[in-house]
Amino acid sequence: MSTDPFVVVGADAAGLSAASKCRRAAPDREVIVFEKGQWISYAYCGMPYFIEGRVDRMADLLSLLPAEADERGIDLRRGHEVTGVDPEAKTVRVESDDETFDQPYSDLLVATGGRATTGSFDVRGVDGAFTLHSMDAAAAIDAYIADPDEYDFGRVDDTPVDRERVAYNAELAAPETAAIVGGGYVGVEMAEALVGRGLEVHLFQRSEHVLRPFGEAVGERVETELADKGVTVHTETPVDALVGDDRIEAVAFDGAELAVDLAVVGVGIEPNTELLAETGVDLGTGGALRTDDYGRTNLDDVYAAGDCATARHTVTGEETWLPLGLTANRAGRAIGSTVAGEPTPVGDIAGTAVVKAFDQECGRVGLVSEAEATAAGFDPVSATITAGSRSGYYPGAAETDVTLVADRETERLLGGSIVGPDRAAVRIDTLSTALDAGMTVGEVERLDLAYAPPFSPVWDPILVAAKVLNGQLDD
Ligand SMILES: Cc1cc2nc3c(=O)[nH]c(=O)nc-3n(C[C@H](O)[C@H](O)[C@H](O)COP(=O)(O)OP(=O)(O)OC[C@H]3O[C@@H](n4cnc5c(N)ncnc54)[C@H](O)[C@@H]3O)c2cc1C
Repeated sequence: MSTDPFVVVGADAAGLSAASKCRRAAPDREVIVFEKGQWISYAYCGMPYFIEGRVDRMADLLSLLPAEADERGIDLRRGHEVTGVDPEAKTVRVESDDETFDQPYSDLLVATGGRATTGSFDVRGVDGAFTLHSMDAAAAIDAYIADPDEYDFGRVDDTPVDRERVAYNAELAAPETAAIVGGGYVGVEMAEALVGRGLEVHLFQRSEHVLRPFGEAVGERVETELADKGVTVHTETPVDALVGDDRIEAVAFDGAELAVDLAVVGVGIEPNTELLAETGVDLGTGGALRTDDYGRTNLDDVYAAGDCATARHTVTGEETWLPLGLTANRAGRAIGSTVAGEPTPVGDIAGTAVVKAFDQECGRVGLVSEAEATAAGFDPVSATITAGSRSGYYPGAAETDVTLVADRETERLLGGSIVGPDRAAVRIDTLSTALDAGMTVGEVERLDLAYAPPFSPVWDPILVAAKVLNGQLDD
């Protein structure tokens, strides 16, 4: 047995990025990855598009197959759950169907991700009620929506899907009316997916607007878009209960009940940290594993990355927990380099996120509202503008809303959001870059952004917003 194994727990974005990078950088290093399930390297982000039917085969959502992990020299053990860590002995307790054993590690990465929270709702054992935080759940929802005699098992071929669960759901009567509980990005993407599958869709959001982390201007535009596309949006309407014992029958809210035969609960996630419960590990924001600039926890040689780990916020410099795909891949890759002998910081995060709501593209980064900026200790000033996405005379030009938030004293840009139907989402990357560089609003206004009629007006919407906000700072 190797004397310095790098042991990884979890075989998705963070875990396999780390394992692959370590093997490439240090080909002689033994790398063992334990994955409790059968799926590896899958794209959760593609699940709504699979359910919608835009992606034909679930296998297309897999980026690295077990055989390819093997070719990379990764010792991948599926069906192996890590149930405990002994930081003194530097071992992990591993349980599989066949055996339980203690695996020594030299370095350990915990990349266990998160799980869907359901609040007071219990979807277990209730046909037609789901959360969407596993490939098996996505396959089950897809099968449930299909007419019993029309479901195509070819959709899930060449995957380790739970075929029994799929077959069970495929046999149930197809739903006609759906309730989505939670108007976050998963809820909004699922609304589009279910409308695409021909269902009548109701979306329930507890607060004033959907897509809360994207700010008010985005939320308002998306609500209009959802309504235009046939979704009934219930804002400021918390769902009190799911009704139905064996099969979902209704959702209860505001003293009323709405009959539904499909419910998708998307109210949030929480980090998977139980395997370190007895170790004295520090937990931080959101109950995630507290990590430093290199992804290290407070336990010697124990790292954490992805949805189970904290990170540092680009703008506030404070600890944060914003579980997103690139954050997981990037931190995993950095830790893979570090344990291979090249110390690499995981990098700060600004919560850069994009989402599509039918024909509207939305983006957000940093602190997107004055309230958020005030809470972080800034003296904020903000502006929301509407500008064209291309030269007005060029076909396809569309109204784009941009909100920018800055600090009055330093004039530093703190964050922003964007919404519009014409390539709005990708424009958020300009703001993300500006935040990373710590730019002032004046510096953003003077950026040399590209212009040609089919792509942008002379003044890109980001520049228009910076110009307006800069004017306010001068007042
Ligand atoms: C519906 C949906 C849509 C999304 N869309 C986007 C998007 O558009 N953009 C974006 O940036 N992000 C998106 N995300 C978030 C993104 O998928 C996650 O941030 C990313 O998957 C996190 O990767 P991870 O490796 O940290 O964790 P995970 O992907 O959760 O992987 C963790 C792995 O660890 C395994 N594991 C857990 N505990 C143990 C244990 N004790 N022993 C062994 N194995 C264990 C799990 O089985 C799992 O395979 C989406 C998520 C969902 C659910």
